[in-house]
Amino acid sequence: MHEASIVQNLLEVALEKAKDYKANKITLIRIKVGEFAGVNQEALKFAFENFTKQTIAEKASLQIIPSPLLGKCQECDEVFEITKNSFKCSKCNSLKIDIISGQDLYIQDIEIE
Ligand SMILES: [Zn+2]
Repeated sequence: MHEASIVQNLLEVALEKAKDYKANKITLIRIKVGEFAGVNQEALKFAFENFTKQTIAEKASLQIIPSPLLGKCQECDEVFEITKNSFKCSKCNSLKIDIISGQDLYIQDIEIE
């Protein structure tokens, strides 16, 4: 399962961070998930509950913040949100765009005690 390995990686990072701060427990893990990262949120939560068992993140809640798909125009450098209906520059209508965010998934921050 795709989501399981994602959660494993995220949790490793979170636990490592908590260790740096000598935390007793993690109370919240906030992650940013790109709308186009292709991740099933329910599966993500399910995997999270499984993997946090017997760790200091056992009682932590998982907050998922969706991040929009952002593109940058190669012609005019405009940065804009890409929707399914408009895969082109919102300023000059160019189709030459680079995806700059929205396909990724990472920890935004964690709360510890
Ligand atoms: Zn443009």
